[in-house]
Amino acid sequence: MDLSLECPICGADMETMLHIFRECCWVKTVWNSLRFDSVANDPSSNLFDWLNSVFSSLVDESFALFVLAAYSIWSNRNSIVFEAVCTRPSIAAAGVNYWLANLRMLDQLCAVEAIAGRVHNDHWMAPEDEFIKINFDASFIFGSSTNRFGFVARDNQGRVLEAATGIISHVEDALHAEVCAALAAVDMANRLRG
Ligand SMILES: [Zn+2]
Repeated sequence: MDLSLECPICGADMETMLHIFRECCWVKTVWNSLRFDSVANDPSSNLFDWLNSVFSSLVDESFALFVLAAYSIWSNRNSIVFEAVCTRPSIAAAGVNYWLANLRMLDQLCAVEAIAGRVHNDHWMAPEDEFIKINFDASFIFGSSTNRFGFVARDNQGRVLEAATGIISHVEDALHAEVCAALAAVDMANRLRG
């Protein structure tokens, strides 16, 4: 078993948490691409001080972008370790921006609770009268440019009103793919309503 303590991305230093999230050349390029130079150049000497410093300086949109970027960085690190697949920093940064834009669109299009699926049931349950129910799902394979989504809309009798599938491009992970599928479903619902 390989127990190397070297950074799996650059191989130039020890894999500490601070290195993975701030010091690594790959990560610095991601932060710089996201215009987070202050995050990359923060002088804090340990992870907790760095996070405290970052959290106290970021608000709203920039804070959300930081969290998504940190998640993406960790996902990329794991993809290298477990799948030997590395994304280019510019692609990772673009994916983070795209992901945040999708989340903001989703916020604007409908109330989150309406699509969050509060009840998980083994059986499809019909909606109430005059409502339609839309079930959606997405596939995600890391590194694939042909991830797909699908949805189906049914009335309270279970009759299919609309169904479609499509291709999703430039997604970061499974959650991002699900968000894209949800957006497509909401867009279709708007067309049905019109
Ligand atoms: Zn490194």
